[in-house]
Amino acid sequence: MKNQKKILVTGGAGFLGSHLCKLLVSEGHDVLCVDNFYTGNKKNLEELRDNPLFEIIRHDVTFPLYVEVDEIYNLACPASPVHYQHDPVQTTKTSVHGAINMLGLAKRLNAKILQASTSEIYGDPEVHPQTEDYRGRVNILGPRACYDEGKRCAETLFHDYHIQHNLRIKIMRIFNTYGPNMHPNDGRVVSNFIIQALNNEDISVFGKGDQTRSFCFVSDLIRGMTSLMNSEDQFIGPVNIGNPHEISIFELAETIIELTNSKSKIIHNPLPVDDPVRRCPDISLAQEKLNWTPKISLKEGLEITVSYFDNLLKKAANGAFN
Ligand code: NAD
Ligand code: UDP
Ligand code: UDP
Repeated sequence: MKNQKKILVTGGAGFLGSHLCKLLVSEGHDVLCVDNFYTGNKKNLEELRDNPLFEIIRHDVTFPLYVEVDEIYNLACPASPVHYQHDPVQTTKTSVHGAINMLGLAKRLNAKILQASTSEIYGDPEVHPQTEDYRGRVNILGPRACYDEGKRCAETLFHDYHIQHNLRIKIMRIFNTYGPNMHPNDGRVVSNFIIQALNNEDISVFGKGDQTRSFCFVSDLIRGMTSLMNSEDQFIGPVNIGNPHEISIFELAETIIELTNSKSKIIHNPLPVDDPVRRCPDISLAQEKLNWTPKISLKEGLEITVSYFDNLLKKAANGAFN
């Protein structure tokens, strides 16, 4: 294929990575997925298994990696608070050592590299909606710090490799994203609520549920990611990518109960420490520079996601997920 690239996706067996690998292969690129399967699963990539354009290596990005590619999407890092807080030191190592290794690789190859950063770098924000120039309010010592500070340091490293070594970089600040291939047990709110609703179990709202989030469907997010990678070299970000439709967690619980016709009741569990009160992206920069805007409404996206988890639960009728 003309314009075919060799593309490395770290964390490619995870939720976002698996969608990205599928899109890139469908565009005719030669895709190498690197993953240590900490939260990812080969099953997410089953349909690519026999595709000659696709390859997987089991590898931890905190160790050096020597391969030959044209572009790197650096997604390796657990994203759910439950998982990234399970082994906080490893989470920071993955973000920081992982970034150094992937930047070193990009430098040796003169490859373009995109960092999957996060809205968490804004911490519990005082500015609303969050714009890219807001510097954030992160608790350095709290339970979310391993992830937030790791991702902040990774952004600094990306920027410094750009300044110091002229590396072509892209920094993408991803806001809450949901859809098929989320791990059923990863503890994020959309997957938790859908599974509880489908099983007619209590829906676990943390705190009063008046905290807000803005949920982006995965296909919109991945389109934003590739648009950023393919944008002109001068545009390095950081750029917010997310859906600006803001909703309270309580309202999300009600919406999911309604969509699934569930008998579930809403219960209230303790609010985790440092849980951000409000989160919503200002996406003017993405609209202006990438001509990107999300297209899938929350209702449409949730319907697709409910149907995915419904199938998964039917397949795993004995209750075992793997
Ligand atoms: P995920 O947990 O489903 O995927 C992460 C992948 O990285 C998994 O396959 C995991 O096994 C792999 N991984 C973890 N540590 C690794 C290591 N040391 N070496 C190699 N592989 C490793 O999470 P996701 O939702 O797909 O998130 C992907 C990226 O996007 C992450 O960097 C995350 O911080 C970022 N992000 C996601 C969201 C979201 O809402 N999904 C929001 C903000 C940022
Ligand atoms: N690295 C890698 N693959 C490569 C080149 C480098 O994994 O193809 C790693 C290597 O571990 C190195 C890190 O990237 O320590 C940073 O590389 P850089 O060249 O920036 O710095 P170095 O530490 O080599 O001076
Ligand atoms: N949450 C909840 N019940 C759950 C899981 C999460 O009420 O079972 C809340 C959580 O406290 C937070 C929001 O939902 O306010 C989003 O949580 P998630 O872990 O999905 O992502 P976060 O945006 O906090 O990283």
